[in-house]
Order: sequence, then structure tokens, then C-alpha cells
Amino acid sequence: MTEERRDRRLGREERAEKLVDELRVKQHLFSPSRRQIWTVVGREGDTMVLLDYDSKGSPYCSCDDFHYRVLSGTITECYHLIAARRALDQNKYSKIEFSDDEYESFLRSLLEDLFSRT
Ligand SMILES: [Zn+2]
Repeated sequence: MTEERRDRRLGREERAEKLVDELRVKQHLFSPSRRQIWTVVGREGDTMVLLDYDSKGSPYCSCDDFHYRVLSGTITECYHLIAARRALDQNKYSKIEFSDDEYESFLRSLLEDLFSRT
């Protein structure tokens, strides 16, 4: 069975669990401001995840699933968001520390990476 077919068979829950187990949820922590950027390394590369994007605490993910299926109401969360929430609950994620000086260049290269893929 090809990797892709096996992946499709796995539900979002299982995929999310695998991401957590493999520490593919990453917290980029900037000091001293303590600002955080969360990414999840999924099948399609990195996606950026915001667990409380707006004042109502709605989450955001930069993946296609989120844009096409979550925003349209077909599903409630993409597997990145499930993984990120779970990782946070279980305190099971990669932690990478940066200094605030690096924040802008980090964000810029992340966004470039995200938007060059679409
Ligand atoms: Zn996603």
C-alpha cells in the first residue's frame, strides 16, 4: 500500500495522534516577550496554527483543509488543530527558543514558505 493511501485511511484523530507522538507539533518561543508561534509539520510541510486567533478564541490553521472544510463548516477542526490542542494538553511538543530579535525574520520566512506552496 502506498504511503498516501494508508494516510487517507487514517482518520483525522489518528493522524493527529501520530503527529503528537512524533513531536511534530512545535512551539517557537521568543524571549523575553514570551511570544509564541506554533507550527505543525504535517504531510504537506509546515502549517502555522493559532489556537486563539480572535477574541472568541477561534482557532486558525494555514492548511487547505482549514480553508476549504473548516471555514465552510464541513468539519470542525483540521488534524493540525487537533494535534496542537492535544500536544498542549499532554505537554508533548517540540520547544524551540528564539530571541525577540529573530521574531520578524522567523515570521517572514515562515509566511514565505506557507504562501509559496499554494
Ligand atoms: Zn490544518
